[in-house]
Amino acid sequence: MSDVTIKQLAQVLGMPVDKLLTQLGEAGMKFSDQEQVISSTEKVKLLGFLRRTHGKSEAAAEVDDSAPRQITLKRRTVGELKVAAPGGRGATGAAKTVNVEVRAKRTYVKRSVIAEEASAEPEREDAVRKLQESQQQREQEERERTEAEQRRQAEAQHALDEQRRRAEKEQHEVEPAGPVEPAVVEHVEATPEPAAEAAPVAAGDDAAAAVQRIDQRDLGMILPRIHEPRKREKPVKPAAAPAAPVAPAARAVVAGGAVASTAAGDAGRGKPKHPRERNDSVGSKEDRDAGKRFAGGQMHLSEADRARRSSSSKRGKPGRSGGREPLRGGGAGPTGPHGFSRPTAPVVREVVVGDTNVVAELAQKMAVKGSEVVKALFKMGVMATINQTVDHDTAVLVVEELGHTPVADNQNNAEETLAAHTQTIELEGEKVSRPPVVTIMGHVDHGKTSLLDYIRRTKVASGEAGGITQHIGAYHVQTSKGVITFLDTPGHAAFTSMRARGAQSTDIVILVVAADDGVKPQTIEAVKHARAAKVPLIVAVNKMDKDGANPDNVKQGLVAQEVVPEDWGGDVQFVPVSAKTGMGVEDLLDAISVQAEVMELKAVVDGRASGVVIESSLDRGRGPVATVLVQQGTLRKGDFVVCGVEYGRMRALIDETGKQVAEAGPSIPVQVLGLSGVPETGDDFVAVEDERLAREVAEERQLKRRETRMVSKSNRLEDIIAKMGQGEEQQTLNILVKGDVQGSVEALRESLTQIGNDRVRVNVVASGVGGITESDATLAAASKALVIGFNVRADASARKVIETNGLDVRYFSIIYDVIDQVTQAATGLLGMEVREDIIGTAEVRDVFRSSKFGAVAGCMVTEGVVKRSKPIRVLRDHVVIFEGELESLRRFKDLVDEVRNGMECGIAVKQYNDVKPGDQIECFERTEVARTL
Ligand code: GDP
Ligand code: MG
Repeated sequence: MSDVTIKQLAQVLGMPVDKLLTQLGEAGMKFSDQEQVISSTEKVKLLGFLRRTHGKSEAAAEVDDSAPRQITLKRRTVGELKVAAPGGRGATGAAKTVNVEVRAKRTYVKRSVIAEEASAEPEREDAVRKLQESQQQREQEERERTEAEQRRQAEAQHALDEQRRRAEKEQHEVEPAGPVEPAVVEHVEATPEPAAEAAPVAAGDDAAAAVQRIDQRDLGMILPRIHEPRKREKPVKPAAAPAAPVAPAARAVVAGGAVASTAAGDAGRGKPKHPRERNDSVGSKEDRDAGKRFAGGQMHLSEADRARRSSSSKRGKPGRSGGREPLRGGGAGPTGPHGFSRPTAPVVREVVVGDTNVVAELAQKMAVKGSEVVKALFKMGVMATINQTVDHDTAVLVVEELGHTPVADNQNNAEETLAAHTQTIELEGEKVSRPPVVTIMGHVDHGKTSLLDYIRRTKVASGEAGGITQHIGAYHVQTSKGVITFLDTPGHAAFTSMRARGAQSTDIVILVVAADDGVKPQTIEAVKHARAAKVPLIVAVNKMDKDGANPDNVKQGLVAQEVVPEDWGGDVQFVPVSAKTGMGVEDLLDAISVQAEVMELKAVVDGRASGVVIESSLDRGRGPVATVLVQQGTLRKGDFVVCGVEYGRMRALIDETGKQVAEAGPSIPVQVLGLSGVPETGDDFVAVEDERLAREVAEERQLKRRETRMVSKSNRLEDIIAKMGQGEEQQTLNILVKGDVQGSVEALRESLTQIGNDRVRVNVVASGVGGITESDATLAAASKALVIGFNVRADASARKVIETNGLDVRYFSIIYDVIDQVTQAATGLLGMEVREDIIGTAEVRDVFRSSKFGAVAGCMVTEGVVKRSKPIRVLRDHVVIFEGELESLRRFKDLVDEVRNGMECGIAVKQYNDVKPGDQIECFERTEVARTL
């Protein structure tokens, strides 16, 4: 049984019979006929001879259990469970995790190398190796016999397939596949046997057993597949396609039995893509069954993987693709190789980079670990954690750094829709002239509010806390010269940005300069704002009724600022006025209308409204309230608007006198209710068609704003180093600011932040409109912040937190008191301060109307004592709504001087009739105390 004929041996060795005969001759054994039987002794002899004559093969032969000499191959074979060794496979030599069933693979590995090295290596070496194998074979006769049988059958099948394939190819052939043929044939004829034989040699009993488990059909399928890499290799190598080495490995996996399949219904894909099957979509039933067996317990492939597989197979096997391509094109289904293939070349991904990018998301888009991105960022000097965001430029850099392609993000669809929307407003309808928007500016106490009061014939100035305008006021006034819209601005330095905004949304600036005071810092500032906004200026020289009035002084002062009066050869109208007597006010209105006419102010009246937020606040009862100036179109009750990052449906429009109005056209300021939140002053608003768009835009903006804030917080390395250098020398004074209106809060925030010097830095940790809430207090406690309530008070739950944490809470109603106090504290100039102490609070339970006193509030004193001689404030929802004096304080019918905690009383407030149940009346006194802060 162990004896074989020369012919059989030659077949086993895959070499021509004559060559074998020659070799035998050289080894000193005379065989003349290929039918002669060669004994195992003779085989050993031949082996010994060949070893002697071929040094290389000897070494290999000695390491018998690792079989052939080509070490790399060998190793790959042995270790192929995990590794495709770098050697034999050519340049890339990617490591592979390969399935367990190994022997077949090992064989083909050898063969491929042989094929590669065919030109260089003497065939003899090959023969030696194979001889050794046949030697082994003899020792395992039983196994061998079975396998030989299997092999033969497989071979037969394979040959059949090849024929079929060739036939197919002839039919479908488009590309020339000439060179392929011989290779295929050759391998079909020559390889299967050693392949199978080699298995037991190398992989030992387990492997052998495994081989035996595989039935003939399977083996038949395995073998040809095994050969594929070899065939692929030659054509690929010159092209040096990076993916080429991958495919063979992938196939090897399949050969081992780990075929991938996504679903049972996808059997075609899961089936081993044997050439036979590929070419013959009507493959035999057995084949399909076999395929299913292979498909059992397999890895899943994603669509992408599949695509990659088929593309890699395309690249990897050009020789074959000639035969397969037409089929694939003809819809024969996916024709990729089996198993998955790990990319060996870096995959370059297109990464969408937005304005702001969360590090983790970036990493995900690049399919790398977040920590890698963090590391790359760190190398670039950007400290960011996975959850932080980086800006667009940084993201682009890091994406490039990691070898991917950044692409711009163009997802601002909602915003674009809105822009398109807004543009149509301009186009729609006919433009008609609109009232001018006039902003009154000037130094504090020069009479801006008084002048406006005179024009409006109201008394705003006297109702202001300390007589100081602390937020922007907007009024439209029907004058003898038509409608004029006035924006009253505060004169204090704190309101720089508010004034700047006033100038930007205005057509004309009226600069009020007191004739007795002349040009002052805020006068100069107002000139600059007007100039920056390119808005014409009209100078109202006020207080002309006063004895010390010196209008020429004003003119001179302004000429120094390049504001030259008309009568001095310039282009600026100077109008002498008196807000007290009304002198010159008509002339001022004339000047305004002349200027407006020159400017030909026009706007579309019909169409969706757009404009700007002048002031905003949070009202406990009414929610967010914003004063907006309509600039184009008409705003109507019920409109949907986007306003900064807020949106909403206009629940009500209220004019400056407190009346509800149905609509507001161009240049008309109006208070609006119904927004989703308090917009920032200066935000644009625009009416949109539907709520969905409004919400989308607002949400998009909100997201952007939030991300931008995060970006600004993300630390750059330089900042950290800078901080480290500073040490502990600079003290930080944390302040939390709450105010009644957004403008005041903003002004406070800005001016407080500027106070710092080299020893003290003022840091506004948080700010907002509305009463001081529990969360404000908690935040202040956490950041050890001083709490400033500007015309607002802490609510009950906040007060608890304040008490338990011993927080320092200061209430103010005059903005420069705040600034003075903080400045003095910061500069160490702690002098005396006028401090307000709340001595008592009363809650309004009911309101009675009395013909004599107006509204009388029936109150319960809830804290301290209310004294008739002391000033009071009226608070609604912890926000100051009025400051003044008591008209009367009564217990029952009697006038009293004070009412103590727990007692009821009747309170009438001077000049204020708008008291409502639920309001609080706080009574306070001013005392001078040494400053401590
Ligand atoms: P604002 O800070 O610029 O708004 O100034 P106000 O309107 O609050 O006025 C400041 C002070 O100047 C008030 O006490 C006014 O009564 C006073 N005042 C304003 N205009 C005139 C004026 O034309 N003549 C006189 N005599 N006093 C004026
Ligand atoms: Mg004022």
